[in-house]
Amino acid sequence: MRAITVQPGKANSIKLEELPPPKANGALLVRAVALGVCGTDRDIIDGHYGWAPHGADRLVLGHESLGKVEHAPAGSEFKAGDLVVGIVRRPDPVPCPACAVGEWDMCRNGQYTERGIKERDGYGAERYALEPDFTVKADPSLGLLAVLTEPASVIAKAWDHIERIGERTKYWKPRQLLVTGAGPVGLLAALFGAQRGLEVHVFDRNTDGPKPELVRDLGATYHTGDFGNLKPDIVIECTGAAPVIEAAVTSTAADGITCLAGIGAPGKKTPVDISSLNRAMVLENDVVFGSVNANRAHYRDAADALAKADKNWLARLITRRVPLDRWQEAFERRPNDIKVVIDFTA
Ligand SMILES: [Zn+2]
Repeated sequence: MRAITVQPGKANSIKLEELPPPKANGALLVRAVALGVCGTDRDIIDGHYGWAPHGADRLVLGHESLGKVEHAPAGSEFKAGDLVVGIVRRPDPVPCPACAVGEWDMCRNGQYTERGIKERDGYGAERYALEPDFTVKADPSLGLLAVLTEPASVIAKAWDHIERIGERTKYWKPRQLLVTGAGPVGLLAALFGAQRGLEVHVFDRNTDGPKPELVRDLGATYHTGDFGNLKPDIVIECTGAAPVIEAAVTSTAADGITCLAGIGAPGKKTPVDISSLNRAMVLENDVVFGSVNANRAHYRDAADALAKADKNWLARLITRRVPLDRWQEAFERRPNDIKVVIDFTA
């Protein structure tokens, strides 16, 4: 079978190679349908991130999976033909208190592993094995669109935590949401906000391309330049850009909640007036928190949210579908790309 592999730490070592087929060992055997490409994959390709499995030089790339079950062990909740998504992270072996209760997204010792990223082969192969406990069923009506489940799971976790923080007050009834950054994760954050009946605003630097219309078609408002006089109850920050983070954090209404969900490149130092920030946060009961990854409950929330979303809208997030034969094109950055997907069935 063919697989997309890299030598982590070595830039441009990516190649398509022939590997032996996976062994089931009590897991599901899955045939790949699609693989989403994201910034983490590009970081790994550039040699900035990623770890091969112990004892190996190369890592099978890919963590945004969609596959079809070929063979399921007897007694599992899966059967041949099911459309499934693989969870990315596996609990650390110790395990830490978070991993011990299935909240590996909150791992405290950093010894977790991740398929396609950290010490475990990923989903960028024609076939792979998937443990039933780390598999989520996708709604068959979504077809290839279910490849959005993993990025949506990251947002499902962000929302889970925003809502738990919100419940610190008895009255909590948020009205206005600001999402900064209209990439795939930001647009999914806006979709989840619209599904919750919020007044949704999305900020992005792009003035053209598909993003403004995608935002408007959610019934949301698109902003470029600055976000003006908004007083959001919730901010979901997806750019990772320091000036945007600062503007977002200081824009919230009293009792505001800002979820930082983006990661920018380190480097340029931005002066921040911590005293003013402290004053604003203390006097307004603001919460700013970071969120990464997702556990099984979040994958299920993500699958449910995608199943009830407008399929035509979701389809417009996938701006390119690249057949495996032309896999290199999937990792190119092109103007107006939102989500690029490798189609293993083409
Ligand atoms: Zn852990």
